[in-house]
Amino acid sequence: MKILKFGGTSVGSHENVRRIGEIVKGQNTPVIVVVSALGGITDTLLLTARTTAEGGEFTTGLSAIRTRHEEMAGQLFAGEQLNRVLAKLHPYFEELEKIFQGVSLIYELTPKTLDKIVGFGERMSSLLISEFLDGELIDSAAVIKTDENFGRAYVDLDKTYRLIAEKCSSLKDVAVAPGFISSSSNGVMTTLGRGGSDYTAALFAAALDAEKLEIWTDVDGFMTADPRVISKAYPIPSLTYSEAMELSHFGAKVIYPPTILPVYKKGIPVQIKNTMAPEAEGTLIGLEEADWKDRPIKGISSMSGITLITVQGLGMIGVTGISSRIFGVLAQKEINVILISQASSENSISFAVDSGCAEVAKEGIENEFAVEIASGRINKITVEENLSIVAIVGEHMKHSAGIAGKLFHTIGKNGINVVAIAQGASEQNISWVVKHSDLRKTLNVVHESFFLSPYIELNIFLVGIGTVGRDLLKQIERQQPRLMGEHRLKIKLAGVANSRKMYFDRDGIQVSEVDNLLKSSEEKSNMSAFCQKMIDLNMFNSVFVDCTANAEIAEHYFHIIDNFISVVAANKVAASSSFERYKKLKDTASKKGVKFLFETNVGAGLPLISTINDLQRSGDRIQRIEAVLSGTLNFIFNTLSEEIPLSQAIRMAKEQGFAEPDPRIDLSGIDVVRKLVILARESGYEIEKEDVKMESFIPQKYFDGSLDEFWETINEMDEEFEQRRKELVANNQRWRFVGKFEDGQAEVALRVVDPDHPFFDLEGSNNIVLLTSERYNEFPMQIKGYGAGAAVTAAGVFADLIKVSNI
Ligand code: ADP
Ligand code: ASP
Ligand code: MG
Repeated sequence: MKILKFGGTSVGSHENVRRIGEIVKGQNTPVIVVVSALGGITDTLLLTARTTAEGGEFTTGLSAIRTRHEEMAGQLFAGEQLNRVLAKLHPYFEELEKIFQGVSLIYELTPKTLDKIVGFGERMSSLLISEFLDGELIDSAAVIKTDENFGRAYVDLDKTYRLIAEKCSSLKDVAVAPGFISSSSNGVMTTLGRGGSDYTAALFAAALDAEKLEIWTDVDGFMTADPRVISKAYPIPSLTYSEAMELSHFGAKVIYPPTILPVYKKGIPVQIKNTMAPEAEGTLIGLEEADWKDRPIKGISSMSGITLITVQGLGMIGVTGISSRIFGVLAQKEINVILISQASSENSISFAVDSGCAEVAKEGIENEFAVEIASGRINKITVEENLSIVAIVGEHMKHSAGIAGKLFHTIGKNGINVVAIAQGASEQNISWVVKHSDLRKTLNVVHESFFLSPYIELNIFLVGIGTVGRDLLKQIERQQPRLMGEHRLKIKLAGVANSRKMYFDRDGIQVSEVDNLLKSSEEKSNMSAFCQKMIDLNMFNSVFVDCTANAEIAEHYFHIIDNFISVVAANKVAASSSFERYKKLKDTASKKGVKFLFETNVGAGLPLISTINDLQRSGDRIQRIEAVLSGTLNFIFNTLSEEIPLSQAIRMAKEQGFAEPDPRIDLSGIDVVRKLVILARESGYEIEKEDVKMESFIPQKYFDGSLDEFWETINEMDEEFEQRRKELVANNQRWRFVGKFEDGQAEVALRVVDPDHPFFDLEGSNNIVLLTSERYNEFPMQIKGYGAGAAVTAAGVFADLIKVSNI
């Protein structure tokens, strides 16, 4: 004998009912099919009843219920059988109408009447299904006996088991029973609580010592998290009874919590299956789990609509009986306490309840402790609303040290404030309370960091779709399959902006769609709004990527980092601004546990900053930096020839994407000053741009006017440069624009180098850096290669991004 329970969605459409037909036909043992109401019907019944009691009309609700069942009958049956089924349904509609009429006359809806009303859903659905499966219809209400705690009645197990066994001992093949409904010993209709059909099925299973209980629903099993919140959640192959109980207690709706106990006591295995995908394995719940034995955590669940009440006072320390009084009041008021947490100093006790009961709970406690409150021994009863509880569950947690440490470290690092914590003595779950607005992020953080997720997601917010930004997008797209395959890393573009428009999508923006989406976006680009939106989205593993050269955008970094979002900048403005600001950004990032990375600020994709960082961290000390750091200038000096004068070489540098948007930043030497300052700072020196001695090789007047004027007049310099160039060639010398830092002194200038100098052979737009340190002393370390260009810069940004993900 097997018990198969089908939920609201499973019986909610004729296609699904036909699937049930196939599933039942495939069984080689007698089955009892327990069914819920057609999906949504219980809610309609509830709502109609409540509106009626408040003076509203019930005809719309009633006719919707009627139409739904008649339509379903029309889809499942034909001819004589259809007439017979409709004739059997009819009395239910009539009876319901009479009850609603009664409610509407007296404007009163007792819990007793409400139970009678909501039970109609299962009575009607079981009729349809029993006809369809040609199975005997069992009246669950007659065999499941309860007290009269309406809304969620307590079952008299002995009596119920006996009645079920009597009723079902001679069953053959298929029988059908409505879930959810029951009756008291006086014969009054009761219900087992919302979602209670699962429990009905478990009672049948336990009473009949069934070989198995199958819960057929609309998901592929018990998932690692609620699939509606975490799209990456996936089915857990097996769970122990207690794990399933803990997960469902904290909100995993897939199974109604009381369901587990009766089957656990009899050792009956429970399988969760998907009616829409019967081939999926589902989840097997039993005494011992067959898979994932090495995983400390099996799943996460959560509950929203939580209020936390804290009773606090110095007069509580060491006084016995306070807790028993608090929870005594709550029990008396029938308030379910979901979580309890007590500070070890004993001066406060916090407990979480459903927000719907918070007011009653608070009043109850205030009355109970009126004397203590008046005397000041209890000084505060605080109520925090709009909270959610999250729980991680797994039996093997008790054997693995450090789970809680890792958990709260990860949560804190992501800027999520933990309001209260509780861990059951069984060590099978850790539960904690967060603000509801942090719930989605919390679930994502935990799901990913405990390897419940099949991959890690990095959420990117990119500003600047120019040469570098565009190349970065292309590289991400190209590299994505490999990152996913080898590193479980998924890069998701969650927001983009160019100088005109911005666009966001929490679920990810297709790279190929970026241009179109920006063009058609309604949102004008605005950095404050961009940052706010990014912060409001509150996504785990967020990175702000700045591929602009814009000073205004750099102004926002602090706010971004302060909100636990990493920054990857190709933009040099921030790292080369005042030392105070640079330091503050770095310190804040490290305090908040996020990254502030800007490798491409110097030498494009060359590993300069990371190498300096590695040297420093391993105890070395940089003493001297000598470098050619301007790809543009090096390109210009390598390109000058009899045919190509200075002005044309500048233009070429611009066209090839090396130069800054305003090439004068390169020509003046300012760009090199910025880079040298960044390298010196990363080497541990406190230095400002103003401290760098800068010799310009182009007269000041070209820098004072507008960019247009510059382009119009710069050819005036061509001749002089050609003269000087000829002299150099004659002496077998070359120009290099060199930055030097030593003993705290920094300078940048155009230098002439001889063939034996390491800078002599430096092709195209390449950069070179000579690092002299305590370890690399006699022979400085040389790092040389492309120092500019969209592809290498984008690759450097990409490498920084990967660093943020810590893979
Ligand atoms: P039924 O109507 O079949 O009884 P329910 O709606 O009661 O189905 O329960 C199934 C739903 O539970 C799923 O559709 C899913 O949205 C939700 N759910 C919440 N947490 C989980 C979880 N950890 N695993 C699977 N489903 C979950
Ligand atoms: N129909 C009831 C409800 O919606 C019972 C169930 O579906 O399990 O709560
Ligand atoms: Mg359910």
